[in-house]
Amino acid sequence: MSFDLEKLVRPNILKLEPYSCARHEFSSTRARAFLDANESPYNTPINRYPDPLQRELKKVISQIKGVSEECIFLGNGSDEAIDLIFRIFCEPGKDNVVSMYPTYGMYEVASNINDIEYRKVNLEEDYSLKADKMLSKVDSKTKVIFICSPNNPTGNSIEHKEINKILENFSGIVVLDEAYSDFSSKASYRFKIDDYPNLIVLNTLSKAWASASIRLGMAFSSVDIILLMNKVKYPYNIGLPTQEKAFEILSNKEKVNAWVEKILLERSRVIKAFSLLPICKKVFPTDANFFLAKVLDAKKTYNYLIKEGIVVRDRSRVELCQSSLRITIGTPEENDALLEALKNFKG
Ligand SMILES: *Cc1c(COP(=O)(O)O)cnc(C)c1O
Repeated sequence: MSFDLEKLVRPNILKLEPYSCARHEFSSTRARAFLDANESPYNTPINRYPDPLQRELKKVISQIKGVSEECIFLGNGSDEAIDLIFRIFCEPGKDNVVSMYPTYGMYEVASNINDIEYRKVNLEEDYSLKADKMLSKVDSKTKVIFICSPNNPTGNSIEHKEINKILENFSGIVVLDEAYSDFSSKASYRFKIDDYPNLIVLNTLSKAWASASIRLGMAFSSVDIILLMNKVKYPYNIGLPTQEKAFEILSNKEKVNAWVEKILLERSRVIKAFSLLPICKKVFPTDANFFLAKVLDAKKTYNYLIKEGIVVRDRSRVELCQSSLRITIGTPEENDALLEALKNFKG
């Protein structure tokens, strides 16, 4: 496989002269007076523009994730990274992307916003992905392939053999969304960005790190791809309060690990009990903090649970997820409430 990054990038992006921020041009914090950015001099303490490249935060993330700082992009959630990938590589009205189905809905939404054809490859009955099937959808206008592992909403991980085959036989960009990898014992692909110049791995603070509300997503990739993402992003895409909150969260790694352990224990307990319910037809294997279950009547079960004050996700309208509910693992008390309510539900 030959990989030519410049050939993949939209010509306008390749030529783009990025916005030059005041804080880019002079980055020392030791000046006597900052009179360069039209900020207020009064300490609120959010009167100054934040570091556009979030360098201090990337140092911490680099330590935790084992990826060097220049290979990290930080965005307003993973969703910003997904949108940027379309804007960098895909020519509206001309190019296409290939993705698996069912999967996370944002790839298709971002594709539609950017006027890019979105080609879906159905997963197999057990929700496994066949690389050959995916590669057969690729043509000369295919710029990006999306893979989500562990996959949302099915919960399963995609076989490494299939992911490798796609990485090795596709000359465009491969986005591997590992939003749930903190719950999985399988090795992360972020350690393989040096082996695969076409790989972008996505992570987020929204799930295991218990910080969906601050909006912080990460992309790990080659220096060249990260430079492109930095060039196209809004100059100050991560606010100072978010950066500071992220420091605090990331310093709690032990607590987060303990939460993950607890969620995994609860996951086994809930799945075991759920499988015994008369309404349960099947629970699919999961490597995430949720599970997909086929039940007798998903809509009826969903409505019953709503009346009981318990909200799950009805995925029964999703093709290949007929009569299925996606259920997140909560605290032991929340999980008990779910199981208790369902024990009294006759379907
Ligand atoms: C929840 C989720 C995300 C997280 O997105 P953020 O924008 O970082 O909150 C990303 N990918 C998948 C597959 C998800 O399920």
